[in-house]
Amino acid sequence: MNWISNYVRPKINSLFSRREVPENLWTKCPECGTMLFHRELAGNLNVCSNCDHHMAISPRERFEALFDGGIFTDVKVPDAVADPLHFRDQKKYPDRIKAAQKASGEKDAMLVAEGEVMRTPIVAAAQDFSFMAGSMGMNVGNAIIAAAQRAVQLSRPLVLFSASGGARMQEGMLSLMQMPRSTVAVQMLKEAGLPYIVVLTHPTTGGVTASYAMLGDVHLAEPNAQIGFAGARVIEQTIREKLPEGFQRAEYLLDHGMLDRVVHRKAMKEELVGLIRLLMGLPPAIKGDLAAPSEVAEQAKA
Ligand SMILES: [Zn+2]
Repeated sequence: MNWISNYVRPKINSLFSRREVPENLWTKCPECGTMLFHRELAGNLNVCSNCDHHMAISPRERFEALFDGGIFTDVKVPDAVADPLHFRDQKKYPDRIKAAQKASGEKDAMLVAEGEVMRTPIVAAAQDFSFMAGSMGMNVGNAIIAAAQRAVQLSRPLVLFSASGGARMQEGMLSLMQMPRSTVAVQMLKEAGLPYIVVLTHPTTGGVTASYAMLGDVHLAEPNAQIGFAGARVIEQTIREKLPEGFQRAEYLLDHGMLDRVVHRKAMKEELVGLIRLLMGLPPAIKGDLAAPSEVAEQAKA
């Protein structure tokens, strides 16, 4: 031991680690400014414990919280044609996709899974706004079709969490084609007599609001989520009128009949299960501690 290992190295380490702490461990609530410890925030489903502001949550984190024991199986989504228009803005489209895939760890903006929620079998799809603004390209269209087909195959309801800026401009016309495509997918569920429930999360706008996000049997939304077709600024400039307070927010839309209910993220699971069991004609869900799967299997045999 010498003064380098005893004194200099700890000093250097403390200098560097001190700088890393605030960035990695704390998240500032964009609404009230409270510093939130990241583990606590994740345990609270990314909802601010001070002001109840609902921050973004990734589809995979959402599913982990939604499905029993955090267990679910990904539903395979067929690959779409990559970069059919050879689109390029400041960056090439394939480069943008690659960066988004690397950042999110997912293939595209929509994740589809199957599993049980409070012992209620469902198929669920969730959109990731952080993946190129949750934009609807061919892959998102494929995901909705895969979700609907799987739901019909298993005779399960489909729950879809939307979050999107609208169509994916890098796919031009092919992106807009996903509006009728996803509408047909929803129709498949209706023909099979299966419930389709949409949970609109912040923000859901553009072509997504003009198609599958507004075609549910029931429309729920998270508090204060922005939901609309065109942006408020565009509307103001077009009609030359000041828009009312809270315009295009979930609570405003609920008051005006666009939504059925605004539900806190923590209460969403029970709300969904209650609705699904009602619509599917199932008995109410069992609340409280459930028996381990092995015990249930034993009882079934007896
Ligand atoms: Zn807050």
